[in-house]
This record gives sequence, C-alpha cells and structure tokens, in this order.
Amino acid sequence: MSRHDHDQHDHDHDEHDDHDEHDEREQAEQRALRQIALSQVRQYGDPVLRMRANEVEAFDEELVRLSERMISLMHDADGVGLAATQVGVLRRVFVFHNEGEDRTIVNPVLSSTGGGTEVDEEGCLSLGPVRMPVERAVEVTLEGVDAQGTPLRLELEGLPARVVQHELDHLDGKLIVDRTDPESRREAMARLRPRLVLSR
Ligand SMILES: [Zn+2]
Repeated sequence: MSRHDHDQHDHDHDEHDDHDEHDEREQAEQRALRQIALSQVRQYGDPVLRMRANEVEAFDEELVRLSERMISLMHDADGVGLAATQVGVLRRVFVFHNEGEDRTIVNPVLSSTGGGTEVDEEGCLSLGPVRMPVERAVEVTLEGVDAQGTPLRLELEGLPARVVQHELDHLDGKLIVDRTDPESRREAMARLRPRLVLSR
C-alpha cells in the first residue's frame, strides 16, 4: 500500500525554493530510488496481480531473502506495505511498516475483525498515483508466522489494520478497484486504462 501523503509531490520542482542544494539533491536521489523500486513492482494489468498466492511450506534462506528484498523495496518505493504477489512471487507473504518496525507476515490470517468499518482513501504501489475510498474493518487480529516460522499474533487498529487488510487482499488476487464504490471504480478505471495501452 502506498503512503497517504506523497503522491502529489513527485513532480513539484517549484514549491521548495527555500530548500538548499543539498536537500534538492537528496530529494532527487529519493525520487530516483523510488522510480527504480517501482519498476520492480508489478503494475495494474499484470495477470499475476489477479492470482491467489500459495501457502508457504518451506522456511528457508530463500524466504528470508525474499522478505528482506520486499522490505527494502517497500522503503525505497515509499510504501507502507508490500505483498509478494506484487513482486511476482505467488507465496503468502507480505511486509508492512508499523510503529517504526518492519514486519514480515507469512501465511497471514485475519482471526477476528471488530470496531465496525471505516471508509478512507487508499493507494497501491501497483496502481501508480490512483487513489480511491475503501471500506475496511477498524480493528483486526492478524495471525501468521514470521520469516523464521515463529508464530505471531498482532492486534491492530486504524491505519495498520487497513494496511494488513489491503496486503492480504493482494495474496488473494484482489485489488482496491474491487473494493471501492462503483463511481470511484469508474474514475479509477478511466485513469488506469490509458496506462494499460501505453504499457503494451
Ligand atoms: Zn497494493
């Protein structure tokens, strides 16, 4: 899932006159890193995004490397969560960032949801700058194991609860365009279709 506040800042060269050259260079480097990271994330129209990922059975060095690669991609892309499906790996693994900590969840299951539901805007690293309102449970209990196979159970509320519901959807081949209201879906599709034509 993409961060809430960054997407309009990709192309703004004029707003930051007060920044010195060092900041400008740093920002340019961050933008370049982000582009490189995003080029490794599968984009809307890629059939793999519609596939269901398989349960992980082997907890080996390869899984640890996958989790590390996904965490670094998530940071470089300035995201708050990333599912293995988005890097073309059909395994039930996602990473997310919560309270200063990077988490890897393997074979995740929502064991309970509560607190009612809430509608908020979501973006996705696989959908470019397109954002749309999505209804999600406010509280969730997430169970699974980490990359070493150690069981974990997280009780989450608000944004992190939203992020894990978004990432879990990816592992089932589901995207936010499937979750939003019909009007927002139409708008999103109108913006996504030209991208599809261009990428052919
Ligand atoms: Zn996403």
